[in-house]
Amino acid sequence: MGGTFDPVHYGHLLVAEQARQQYQLGEVVFVPNCIPPHKKDYQVSPAECRYAMVLLATGDNSYFSVSREEIQRSGPSYTIDTIRAFRRQLGPDVQLYFITGADAVWEILTWRQPQDIVAECQLIAAHRPGFDLQKMTAVLGEDLANKVELLAMPEMDISSTQIRQRVARGQSIRYLTPQAVANYICKTGLYNN
Ligand code: ATP
Ligand code: MG
Repeated sequence: MGGTFDPVHYGHLLVAEQARQQYQLGEVVFVPNCIPPHKKDYQVSPAECRYAMVLLATGDNSYFSVSREEIQRSGPSYTIDTIRAFRRQLGPDVQLYFITGADAVWEILTWRQPQDIVAECQLIAAHRPGFDLQKMTAVLGEDLANKVELLAMPEMDISSTQIRQRVARGQSIRYLTPQAVANYICKTGLYNN
């Protein structure tokens, strides 16, 4: 599961856990990105901070791990490069999945080599408020849309943007993200502007 995770929140964690259970995944690897090609409209927090928060959030789930694959690679993070790196590490017999939210699926045509991504792994998409996955075929075309599995789970109206804004306004972020992450944000002053 790739993302900026600035910060990680319960939306990410629920999607990951539901995907794990419904597809009987042996492991869910969170991959914080380095320079997100699609997010240049705000100052993204340092990769090490985002990585640390994902570690704190996932530590209590033995199926979850956090990868430094994209952080350690220099330059922008492209999903296709990451999938190929995992394929090289894990060998040909492992089934790879890429877990995303509906908004990310919407953008898949703007990603580098979308056809290669769906050829090399199974995409799992979670519903997200404001994005109608039923309209996916119209947006992506039948070929691509047929290769995306839809995750059955309640929609969670939580975003990192919302959490950053709440912190900047001095509002509580309790129950939006694990307490360890909220404590980290408080201690470091991240998002206080
Ligand atoms: P931002 O508001 O900064 O864009 P975000 O909450 O969208 O943050 P990202 O790190 O951009 O979080 O998302 C990583 C992945 O998790 C993406 O595939 C995104 O679609 C998915 N995701 C994030 N939040 C949710 C949610 N509440 N429900 C479903 N999927 C989500
Ligand atoms: Mg996002």
